[in-house]
Amino acid sequence: MVVFHSFDKSERFWMGNKMNEKIKNFLAGVISLIILAAIATLYFSSILDIDNTAVAYFNQPQQPIQNSSCYFQLPKDSTIILRMDDVQEIFVENVSYNITKTIFDKNFSVTWGLIPSRINKNIQNFVAENENNPNFEVAQHGTYHTVNEYQNLTENETYNLMKIGYDIIVKKIGIIPVTFIPPHNEFNNYTISTAAKFGFKLFSGKESVLKNYGDIFDLGYTVDVKSEKTKELIPAEDVVQTCSKSLNLTNACVILFHPQDYSSSDFRNVDEKKYKIFADMLDGLKQLQAKTSTFEGLLTC
Ligand SMILES: [Zn+2]
Repeated sequence: MVVFHSFDKSERFWMGNKMNEKIKNFLAGVISLIILAAIATLYFSSILDIDNTAVAYFNQPQQPIQNSSCYFQLPKDSTIILRMDDVQEIFVENVSYNITKTIFDKNFSVTWGLIPSRINKNIQNFVAENENNPNFEVAQHGTYHTVNEYQNLTENETYNLMKIGYDIIVKKIGIIPVTFIPPHNEFNNYTISTAAKFGFKLFSGKESVLKNYGDIFDLGYTVDVKSEKTKELIPAEDVVQTCSKSLNLTNACVILFHPQDYSSSDFRNVDEKKYKIFADMLDGLKQLQAKTSTFEGLLTC
């Protein structure tokens, strides 16, 4: 049986008080939530701002990450730099090691343009074995090495992309690179200025460029061993001759080549015929009686 209860005055008063209290509690809850939400927003926005803060920090004039007292000057004596781009895992990996060993056997130096996103254990081991070798340098060659990777980026895009590659090299290779090589030798002003802010001292891009930016020096390549037109290897004596002319003019000669220039069609091994041209080139360069150095080896610190 349902009993209908009729409330008396005091009961209604009590209930009214109870309702007021509920509303008060509800409002207090809402206000607390608003305050909490505001605090959380401030907190999380400060976390989310970290990247922008870092970018803003990098946009300010500041001390580079690396030793700021090091700088590049054109060498006082004739010096040859061998720049091997596109060192990476699997694809042409063995060819890269063979070429590097031949270079060492013939008492030359080499700078590897290493693709950060394509580093494997073998590459890590090879670098570790040669970390104290003054004839060996690892330069950062882009990040993922997509086509003209750095050419059309904004300043922030450049910073973010360069940082990914830079961090990989520092973490996986355990060195702080001082030379930056943009893929396909394509870049814009932000590439140079951002590289300088990261502490890179040397930049190697387009052909025959010698440009001092203060914090960073662009020392482009002197001669590419492969003809852009025919895609064939240039005769060794022609490379040596171009290099000789550059040494007479500037004391520097940067020879650009890729492991794939000397590889078999499956990229796994050295092509003996092409490799002979490489060895002949090194022997011809020897005749120039120039010094040999990595890019890094030419820094004055
Ligand atoms: Zn490349």
